Parts: sequence; structure tokens; C-alpha cells
Amino acid sequence: MDCIFCEIAKGNLNTEFIYEDDKVVAFHDLNPQAPIHFLVIPKEHIKSANHIDEDNLIVSHIFKVIKELANSMGFAEKGYRVINNCGEDGGQTVEHLHYHVLAGRNLQWPPG
Ligand code: 5GP
Ligand code: ZN
Repeated sequence: MDCIFCEIAKGNLNTEFIYEDDKVVAFHDLNPQAPIHFLVIPKEHIKSANHIDEDNLIVSHIFKVIKELANSMGFAEKGYRVINNCGEDGGQTVEHLHYHVLAGRNLQWPPG
């Protein structure tokens, strides 16, 4: 199975990690949509948010990591947006669960 985010998580593409632990990695998005735009992904291959087992604690862990990064990177106070695109109509282009974190500018709502 070819999955670019599995390859990134294994360190095979030399992507710079801004965070890593035994369950997740975070790295800057290749095509940033805000001054700060990174992705947090599980090391485990999960296809989308619609494929998370109900007993899997990965989402709460991801949000804990996002909160810690927001504080350590200094954008927690101004605020930020967490986005998960799920499936074709949701705009998901990489079929490995990932959460976008955007910060550093005033983000508009609703998204396009
Ligand atoms: P999606 O559209 O699936 O929600 O988001 C996928 C994101 O992954 C896009 O924002 C895209 O820029 C980013 N992306 C795709 N391939 C790579 C890659 O090889 N490296 C990095 N750092 N980001 C990638
Ligand atoms: Zn994968």
C-alpha cells in the first residue's frame, strides 16, 4: 500500500518533524494556507475520521498534542483552527487521517 503519510511518519521522506512521540507526528504542510499551518497525524494508518474505531483514543491524544504545540509555539492566545477533511466531498486528498492546524492570521468563516 502506497501511503505518503505512512512514509512521512516512518521518517522515510526526511520530513522535518515539529513534534513526534510513539503515537503521532506533526510537520509543516507543503502548501501552507496560513502563516502557521501544520498537520498532526497518527503513526498508525487510519484512512479517515470515518474509520476511527470507537475505542481508539488517538483523537484525544491528537488534541492534547495540538494544545501543547499551540502553547509552545505561541499562538494559543490569539487562537487557531483545527480542520479535518473527510472523504471526497470533505476535500480529503491524502487518505491517511490528519488534522490541519492553522494560525497566525484572522481566519474567515465559513470556509469555501
Ligand atoms: P487534505 O486535503 O487531505 O485535507 O490535506 C492534505 C494536505 O497534505 C494538503 O494540505 C497538502 O498540502 C499536504 N501534503 C500533501 N503531500 C505532502 C507532503 O509530501 N509533505 C507535506 N509536508 N505535506 C503534504
Ligand atoms: Zn498511511
